[in-house]
Amino acid sequence: MTILSSLGRASRSAPLASKILLLGTLSGGGKVAYSDSSNAEANKNEQLEKKKKKKVVVLGTGWAGISFLKDLDITSYDVQVVSPQNYFAFTPLLPSVTCGTVEARSIVESVRNITKKKNGEIELWEADCFKIDPINRKVHCRPVFKDDPEASQEFSLEYDYLIVAVGAQVNTFGTPGVLENCHFLKEVEDAQRIRRGVIDCFEKALLPGLTEEQRRRKLHFVIVGGGPTGVEFAAELHDFIEEDITKIYPSVKHLVKITLIQSGDHILNSFDERISSFAEEKFLRDGIDVQVGMRVMSVTDKDISVKIKSCGEVVNIPHGLVLWSTGVGTRPVISDFMKQVDQGGRRALATNEWLQVKGCENVYAVGDCASIAQRKIMEDIANIFKAADVDNSGTLTVEELHDVVDDILVRYPQVELYLKSKHMRSIKDLLTDSEGNGKKEVDIEEFKSALAGVDSQMKSLPATAQVAAQQGSYLAQCFNRMEHCKENPEGPKRFRTGGHHQFRPFQYKHFGQFAPLGGDQAAAELPGDWVSAGRSTQWLWYSVYASKQVSWRTRALVVSDWTRRYIFGRDSSRI
Ligand code: FAD
Ligand code: MG
Repeated sequence: MTILSSLGRASRSAPLASKILLLGTLSGGGKVAYSDSSNAEANKNEQLEKKKKKKVVVLGTGWAGISFLKDLDITSYDVQVVSPQNYFAFTPLLPSVTCGTVEARSIVESVRNITKKKNGEIELWEADCFKIDPINRKVHCRPVFKDDPEASQEFSLEYDYLIVAVGAQVNTFGTPGVLENCHFLKEVEDAQRIRRGVIDCFEKALLPGLTEEQRRRKLHFVIVGGGPTGVEFAAELHDFIEEDITKIYPSVKHLVKITLIQSGDHILNSFDERISSFAEEKFLRDGIDVQVGMRVMSVTDKDISVKIKSCGEVVNIPHGLVLWSTGVGTRPVISDFMKQVDQGGRRALATNEWLQVKGCENVYAVGDCASIAQRKIMEDIANIFKAADVDNSGTLTVEELHDVVDDILVRYPQVELYLKSKHMRSIKDLLTDSEGNGKKEVDIEEFKSALAGVDSQMKSLPATAQVAAQQGSYLAQCFNRMEHCKENPEGPKRFRTGGHHQFRPFQYKHFGQFAPLGGDQAAAELPGDWVSAGRSTQWLWYSVYASKQVSWRTRALVVSDWTRRYIFGRDSSRI
């Protein structure tokens, strides 16, 4: 039993050649030649099989890329992945990494670890894609190992389908001095840099020879941007300083200040008003200085110059550390690609509702680098009318409309939003006369005027992990059913050309959003206009974020980090 299990272990861990040797030794050597040739045959078959499969190249291993890879049935495709990071980072916990509430390694999972669970081989290249060539269906890549001439040679990959999931980069809006003097919070390395930066500010402020004003400046932490990331960082920093740092730097405690600068009138303005006010009141109690209606003009290593919008006055704010967290910008590879496909000047790649890049059939774009250009119903209204008017009477009866309602609702999701906003239950409620009575029949003009306001409900999706993950997963499901749906299309009617779309369009489901506010309090906006804030919401936040972890390993690490912080506090060593 022991010998057999040892052999089993050896054969599992040994490379192919030693497995053949092992087999040969056991069977008297005669089988070696057989084994060799059968392996060669198997390899040949594998290569042939691979050649037959369509080549899918995925750019990026963030939320969108990983959720695509996790859900894709890779037995039908030859998959290659290009990403400068060989890991996936759970970005919603990055603010916690900046202050050591959670350790950096607890929120990352190796991509090779994630993909090895698939029953097929996915190739991963640690490189940046610097050019997409849609005409020759190629991507050009540069390995990340710039200092090693052998490992830095550029290469290109051919694709049948390309999935662009490279995310977005920080947006400085061209403000002078931001790139050179501010911290950003997009990557794990950024969070680690901020953690060291905060400790450095305290260590510098303690040194002899500094004036009180200089110490005060070193301990002034400024956050530009009152969105969820800026607010969460401000809250984390406040807790870190209050609960841990001031215990070890008591002499400079009174000099510390946190300022949050927001150009709009309120922080968290993408949230419900009640959450925004709750956050502002909490920050006021905590002593976090929230400055709204201010626009940053420039940043130097010592000051931020801001313009007060109401009076136009420009003031200088001295700082020790600045976090710049104001929206997302376009990566160079996407800007270049957009120029090639006549989409120049946009922030993100425009796709159709099936996430295909406009003008490039075989290229799909998901996550922060893309945005869906939803088709307006008014552009197709004549075709919808024609398709629905099956008896060619020039009018639509309620029955005729009934037959196309489902297709309309799937193809133009803005219709449902419009009905909800008007508290209507069905599209038929739109067809009423001036007294509000339901009509039995409508002509094209009446149909047009009934639907005239619908397109005003079109909204672009936010740049969030929720959207990116749902898009990656949706696309994988489409790829998994590509062949089946060619024969059996499952999408809505094609009103313009006839027939049906191959797939249902992507539809985003919003599960709500959280804003952790520090002091073990959080605010949440959940579906159904449900708003909650306080300690119990923080516990909900803990459970949701633990459950959303990409693996059991990271889940265990994150939960143990939270427990460690609770018992021992955060570590303030500068490593
Ligand atoms: P990313 O996740 O950014 O992934 C992009 C991938 O592409 C990365 O692997 C990158 O290395 C790779 N890449 C970059 N350039 C190239 C290239 N040239 N070639 C190949 N690969 C490339 N969203 C929420 O829903 N909830 C939250 O609580 C939340 N909190 C956040 C907190 C912070 C601090 C931040 C920064 C973001 C947060 N977000 C949150 C937003 C969320 O992280 C993004 O919307 C999400 O990461 C977008 O996913 P993505 O796959 O499009 O891009
Ligand atoms: Mg008719």
